[in-house]
Amino acid sequence: MTAKTPAVLILLGPPGAGKGTQARMLEEKYGLVQLSTGDMLRAAVAAGTDAGKAAKAVMEAGNLVSDEIVINILRDRLTQDDCRKGVILDGFPRTTVQAEALDTLLAESGQKINAAVSLEVEDAAMVTRISGRYTCGTCGEGYHDTFKQPAKDGVCDKCGGTEFKRRADDNAETVASRLEAYHAQTAPLIAYYKGKGRLECIDAMGDIDAIAANLNAIVDKATA
Ligand code: ADP
Ligand code: ADP
Ligand code: ZN
Repeated sequence: MTAKTPAVLILLGPPGAGKGTQARMLEEKYGLVQLSTGDMLRAAVAAGTDAGKAAKAVMEAGNLVSDEIVINILRDRLTQDDCRKGVILDGFPRTTVQAEALDTLLAESGQKINAAVSLEVEDAAMVTRISGRYTCGTCGEGYHDTFKQPAKDGVCDKCGGTEFKRRADDNAETVASRLEAYHAQTAPLIAYYKGKGRLECIDAMGDIDAIAANLNAIVDKATA
């Protein structure tokens, strides 16, 4: 009997669509590893690496970091041992060049994409979602001022942490550039994955648990 190839799921969607929120839920339910290039880049900026230095101003302006930097970071992460459990790509690929690089990387290790799920949301909802977003400084759990508050005010549901943080780029001015980058550079990936027979679409305007239920059904089918 041969071992099952690790699952590869992609979450596509504009900033604030709920990719990170859903990826963490999938990670818990299926034991997959969430790979967020945004988190990796923020870690590189905080660590002051060369990639982080090059990415900082670009991220603050709400533009996309160069394909070369992002592909290198993702490649290094994807080849680490824990990724053999299967991965959820959150925020990667974001350009056609990145999508093609991913296909090559996966082909090299005999893997394939199980499903690319597009989280569909109205642009008008984005500003509200992004401007109310904050995360636990200890475990990274995501929250929202209105839509997802911790059960106990000021205390993280997951880890009991009491320190929270907001992202520097989560402001109304930057959101406009990020949405523009999404429509110009990332939205074409919907057709890319449709052409490969891998696309699934989900209405991501509903509540978090209802979206998760739809997503779970897709994952069950795509990994059966
Ligand atoms: P992304 O990773 O796509 O940028 P997040 O998962 O960080 O998006 O979600 C953005 C913000 O919106 C967070 O504050 C999150 O708590 C909240 N959020 C996520 N999904 C929903 C939803 N279905 N309805 C309302 N708010 C949501
Ligand atoms: P969001 O889902 O809210 O847009 P992310 O955390 O995914 O936020 O990304 C934050 C920023 O990091 C992006 O605006 C962009 O500057 C950079 N970034 C993240 N992933 C990529 C990627 N795959 N390609 C280029 N830039 C990226
Ligand atoms: Zn926490």
